[in-house]
Amino acid sequence: MMQSETRRFACTSCGRCCNRGPEMELSEATSLAGTFVTSLLFKVHSLPASERSGWAKQWWGNRGSRIPLRPALEEARRHLGHFASRRRIDKSRDRQIFLDISAIVDDDGQGHCPALVGDLCGIYESRPVTCRTVPCHYSRAPSTLRNSLDQFTSTSGYKCDTGASAPIILDGNRVIDEAMRIGREQAIEKAKADQRWKDRIVAFLDDGERAARVGLPSFDAIVGNSDRGYATMLPMIVAWRVAAIEGIISPERFEEVCREQAALLKDRIARAGGQVSGELLGALAAYQAEFSKARAG
Ligand code: SF4
Ligand code: SF4
Repeated sequence: MMQSETRRFACTSCGRCCNRGPEMELSEATSLAGTFVTSLLFKVHSLPASERSGWAKQWWGNRGSRIPLRPALEEARRHLGHFASRRRIDKSRDRQIFLDISAIVDDDGQGHCPALVGDLCGIYESRPVTCRTVPCHYSRAPSTLRNSLDQFTSTSGYKCDTGASAPIILDGNRVIDEAMRIGREQAIEKAKADQRWKDRIVAFLDDGERAARVGLPSFDAIVGNSDRGYATMLPMIVAWRVAAIEGIISPERFEEVCREQAALLKDRIARAGGQVSGELLGALAAYQAEFSKARAG
């Protein structure tokens, strides 16, 4: 049976997809430093270097793309390229790798995003672009949207309206919904605006001494983690240290961000009672040390 080209969707504000804090661009984490405690996130995406390998066929089959293998691979390279801070060919494994640097809200153990109030977003007007592009998330290439949207709306417990009265948001590979389309474009713009910051982080990764000074691993360590199946997460202070050193944020903004994060961490520690992890205390100490240093300087 031929599948419909269009998809209908309306959010009923059930709040179920806010079951964890969002991933976001680095500058969004800075703007929202008074709302969220975040971590710096490194993800490595691997694509087949050539469309002729068995892996390429498998990759294409798993992707759920609506277009043939070769254009799907070109589309994936183009799309990842909007967000990648480094691309590299890895001949030994017949792959092209893309390093993606972003921020992610720390899990505070509540089972939902810290900004969720009841079923509604408590920061709706300033919510990250990730949340603005649900369910056509900007990391998804156009030809894969229908598949990912179908998976999203059929998630157990989600109460998205996909009935005949909901508006059409997707037609083939095209996002019809204006707000979502704009959100996807804004995400690319934000990634571009953060590129200098990300480039500086990558430069630190390549310089062992400087990397160790701010708390960054090497690029190879990040790829190694990815090959073992996990992303690399570090306290966001590492990215803000680089931003302050490189003049991407002012010393005053750096100090303010450290104070905002310390206040959120103190609040979380107070709520946890006696069950406080060493990691949380360590993070608080790191932020407090930065603004004590700023005061002394
Ligand atoms: S920021 Fe708002 S929309 Fe985004 S996950 Fe949190 S509560 Fe949901
Ligand atoms: S699960 Fe669907 S209906 Fe519920 S908040 Fe998320 S997008 Fe809206």
